Amino acid sequence: MKLKIIALMFLVILLSSTTFAQKRLVALTFDDGPNQIFLKKALPYFEKEGIKVTFFVIGCEAVAHPEMIALENNDGHEIENHTYGHVCLVKPNLKWNLCQNISIEKAVWQIERTDEIIFKITHRHSHFVRPPFFAMTGERKAELQKMTGMTILSHGGNSVGSLDWVYNNPSPVISTVEKTIEKRKFNSCIIVFHERLNTLSALPEIIRFLRNNGYVFVRLDEFEKAKGGDR
Ligand SMILES: [Zn+2]
Repeated sequence: MKLKIIALMFLVILLSSTTFAQKRLVALTFDDGPNQIFLKKALPYFEKEGIKVTFFVIGCEAVAHPEMIALENNDGHEIENHTYGHVCLVKPNLKWNLCQNISIEKAVWQIERTDEIIFKITHRHSHFVRPPFFAMTGERKAELQKMTGMTILSHGGNSVGSLDWVYNNPSPVISTVEKTIEKRKFNSCIIVFHERLNTLSALPEIIRFLRNNGYVFVRLDEFEKAKGGDR
């Protein structure tokens, strides 16, 4: 009898650890804020759903609306760095007309100034930088990581672009996210959204889809910790 109980306990422990290792994680991330109109609706919605998300904020917008950053922080969301003026942190190689050349000193300033602003409001430093337009090169990424001590996120890997900045209605945003996840068979993924009202309209359906597919919602810092920096 005793042996049976021990065997049963062992089985329970084994099953629970297997489930944890196989957990599908998803981090919902939102660029370009803080946007008051979006947040006044989005924050109560996240609260209702019990979901914590990650905001990649623009420094000059955070200066204009520190109260919104404070609300995000008070609700347990993560605040990260999207540069001070939403500028390219490098002019990428070859066919890229969008970006101007920028010195490494100016690029570092864009990141560090934004971090100071975030810290002043939340008393927490930012640890991740999402480069605007995902404009980055391997060399600049290495320099910036060394000089700022932060992680510069790259496009691709396990990130899912929602294209919510392209469309003005929710249905193509929903199908872009769902089709990308189904096609690329992500075990865990980071979804890139923007603080837009069409995104907010798309979220209930996307969240339903993710829940139906067994995803657990986490902040980016929790995601990176669980995945061991696989980005
Ligand atoms: Zn952006």
